[in-house]
Amino acid sequence: MTVLPQPDQPDQPDHEVVIIGGGFSGIGAAILLSRAGFADYLLLEAGDGLGGAWHWNTYPGVAVDIPSFSYQFSFEQVAGWSRVYAPGRELKAYAEHCADKYDVRRRTRLRTTVTAATFDDDAHLWRLDLADGAAITARHVVSATGVLTQPKLPEIDGLADFAGTVMHTARWDHSVDLTGRRVAVIGTGASAVQAIPHVARQAAHLTVFQRTPIWCLPKPDSPLPGLARTALRAVPGARRATRLASQAFVEATFPVAAHFAGLVPVAAVGERIGHAYLRQAVRDPAVRAALTPSYALGCKRPSFSNAYLPTFNRANVTLETAGIATITPGGVRTAEGVEHDADVLVLATGFKVFEKGNMPPFTVRGAGGADLEKWWEENRFQAYQGVSVPQFPNFFTILGPYGYNGSSYFNLIETQSAHIVRALRQARKVGATRVEVTPEANAAYFASALGRRRHQVFFQDSCGQANSYYFDANGDVPFRAATTLETMWAARRFPLDAYAFTG
Ligand code: NAP
Repeated sequence: MTVLPQPDQPDQPDHEVVIIGGGFSGIGAAILLSRAGFADYLLLEAGDGLGGAWHWNTYPGVAVDIPSFSYQFSFEQVAGWSRVYAPGRELKAYAEHCADKYDVRRRTRLRTTVTAATFDDDAHLWRLDLADGAAITARHVVSATGVLTQPKLPEIDGLADFAGTVMHTARWDHSVDLTGRRVAVIGTGASAVQAIPHVARQAAHLTVFQRTPIWCLPKPDSPLPGLARTALRAVPGARRATRLASQAFVEATFPVAAHFAGLVPVAAVGERIGHAYLRQAVRDPAVRAALTPSYALGCKRPSFSNAYLPTFNRANVTLETAGIATITPGGVRTAEGVEHDADVLVLATGFKVFEKGNMPPFTVRGAGGADLEKWWEENRFQAYQGVSVPQFPNFFTILGPYGYNGSSYFNLIETQSAHIVRALRQARKVGATRVEVTPEANAAYFASALGRRRHQVFFQDSCGQANSYYFDANGDVPFRAATTLETMWAARRFPLDAYAFTG
């Protein structure tokens, strides 16, 4: 158990800010807070390394599916990506690079899991209980724990009895050689789309268990040869111009397509491209039909890959669309009674998303002992600009409900950090120790978010067939129906009286 130095005065916290989570959200928040003069921060990370998703996801083929020119901080644009869509190891290295360059590592504590956060109503600070029994206090907490972090195992009978190797995509076991093995992959989401082509090349036989087909679009990917990288580095304005083009592409294909589907038919164009690509990529008409989604593009996260669909032409690959009845010691049995033998079972079954115990993955007790999960259960999942919740003073999130508009996560991180910095600067200016979003500002924001639904793709009838993790327990989709420019503007211009500054 770590014994931490106790502050001399009980209402003086150990740190002005504690950031929880060492992925890009936490690293970005740390850099931007520090730049804004909030250098007394501590970053806590449960894992044994920085990089979040890119630390944990090392399955074969893992790569970003937003062009790398956009998938990086605006203030730290690098020119060394080996491809338009960088592989996971380069993103992990980029995370380490940012942590070193901006001196985040010195203020980071790895292998430190927060189990509970409790607001002290008198002292106006948060007490963070750690898994090792110690505690840390902070005036402000930035929760940067991400969303797609806790692997979800399927609830299928017999999983524990499987005699071979079982691994989740987010916990890939690189000591397992798939060469010549019979592999079963359960799931066809973005992780499966990237892993399956690689597994198929190695395995003697691969069976893919698909419950809902994914929209898979061609990926405008290519290597970035040395010359291109040198040009990006040396030609004035080249990086900026490439980023601008990349941002426009991302904006059109994610936020605009999803939130303004009723106004701009990007999704319809995307579906035509998807159908044409399926016709060209998959030879067997029955397999092609099985791989064709029956819901509108955008109801759930689409994927981009030039290798996924053609993999189903391979003689050693079987697509199984019958439901799984049970996992047996020797493989997987379908509801139709067909047995598929397997030596290795890959669970590409995704993550906990908008469900209990994930947002964030620790108990949060705010003012008067209010429980955050319970508050959301009673009031629906919501947060002011995705950042703060009434009754939870001095507590800010990077990836809260109605914060993310679907563009690059890096835009989100910078936008939400700008919002937090603005609120904290004002607190400092007026000498406040308690910063709490008002119920009125929060209610107005939530009402406006719900009012923007009518043009979103998510509320079309066909989305009912998509099995999309975008929907929360109330059937809401807590994404921000806004352009990226609007989110950036709002973070820097929200009325300061949206918050009560006291103490
Ligand atoms: P996911 O999208 O949630 O996909 C999980 C898959 O497992 C789905 O096909 C799901 O079927 C299936 N599944 C779950 N439980 C099952 C069961 N009991 N029986 C049969 N099938 C089952 O998870 P993911 O592929 O890991 O991706 C999650 C998210 O991570 C993505 O949406 C994306 O945002 C992110 N991601 C990004 C990248 C990237 O940027 N490059 C790469 C990977 C992941 P249903 O669809 O029927 O539920």
